[in-house]
Amino acid sequence: MTETERAHRYRTRMQRKKEVIDAAIARAGRTQGLLLVHTGNGKGKSSAAFGMIARALGHGLRVGVAQFIKGRSDTGEEAFFRSQPHVDWHVLGEGYTWDTQNLERDTATAQRGWVIAQNMLRDPAIELVVLDELTYPIKFGWLDMATVLNDLKNRPAMQHVIITGRGAPDALCQLADTVTEMTDIKHAFRSGIQAQKGIDL
Ligand code: ATP
Ligand code: MG
Repeated sequence: MTETERAHRYRTRMQRKKEVIDAAIARAGRTQGLLLVHTGNGKGKSSAAFGMIARALGHGLRVGVAQFIKGRSDTGEEAFFRSQPHVDWHVLGEGYTWDTQNLERDTATAQRGWVIAQNMLRDPAIELVVLDELTYPIKFGWLDMATVLNDLKNRPAMQHVIITGRGAPDALCQLADTVTEMTDIKHAFRSGIQAQKGIDL
């Protein structure tokens, strides 16, 4: 094949590709609040949500964050985002369940947390809500699945919500618009390396 033929074939291929992509963009003409789920065993579920918080703030959106499970308040993301005027940040956990070891108490903590999440899900002024590690309180039965789904369905039409955590229940994935499963191929922790500032916390 000559250079001219190759260049021609390349141009034709790219033209066809452009038509397909343009048609897809034209079809995606709607705008609405989205529900995103980041699940799976690989690293990156919460940090991808924090990346979207930065994006949203860059556009001047107001953001609410509710962190379930996590009890620590010394993470880099909290230190950074709490100082932003448009961020409302709540740490609602008491640490991991294997630390508390008390079902009644874990349930009560999660339910108190859900009241705060509900207030955000009813406030149209909050344009992005991040419910970090929410899959665990659902899986452990501390929160009622139907209530959670119902509150998500009835949120303001333009509000975006991101839910993170392993093992997202099917019903939640079905309701979501975008679901991403992080795949664990390798993690430094298993080679004996402790959580590193700026990378893991
Ligand atoms: P990140 O907050 O880094 O995006 P994540 O939200 O995907 O991680 P979590 O299950 O919430 O993952 O775990 C939080 C902590 O556990 C982080 O310090 C993270 O680096 C670490 N971690 C995540 N995935 C793994 C894994 N597959 N093996 C060991 N540790 C992990
Ligand atoms: Mg996480």
